[in-house]
Amino acid sequence: MRAATVAVVAVGLALALALGVDQGFDTTSITILVLIALVGALAIAAAGKFEGQRVAPARCAECNGVISPNAPYCKHCGERQSDRF
Ligand SMILES: [Zn+2]
Repeated sequence: MRAATVAVVAVGLALALALGVDQGFDTTSITILVLIALVGALAIAAAGKFEGQRVAPARCAECNGVISPNAPYCKHCGERQSDRF
C-alpha cells in the first residue's frame, strides 16, 4: 500500500519533471511540481498512518474462527466477544 503510493508519487514527479524539461520550466510547471510533491508527501504520510493503524484479524475464543477485531459477536458461531469490551 505504502510502496504503491510512493511509486505513484514518484511516477507523477518524474512525469512533471519530464514535462518541465521538455517544455521548459515556467511558473505553471514548477507550481505543478510543488503541488505533486506536497500531495505526494501527504499521501505517503497518510498511507503510513493507515498502515500503522491497521489491526490484525482477531480469532474467536470459542471456535478459533477469524473475525473482525471490532466484532461484538463471532460471525461463525455467534459467541459474544465480550473480553474485548
Ligand atoms: Zn466463533
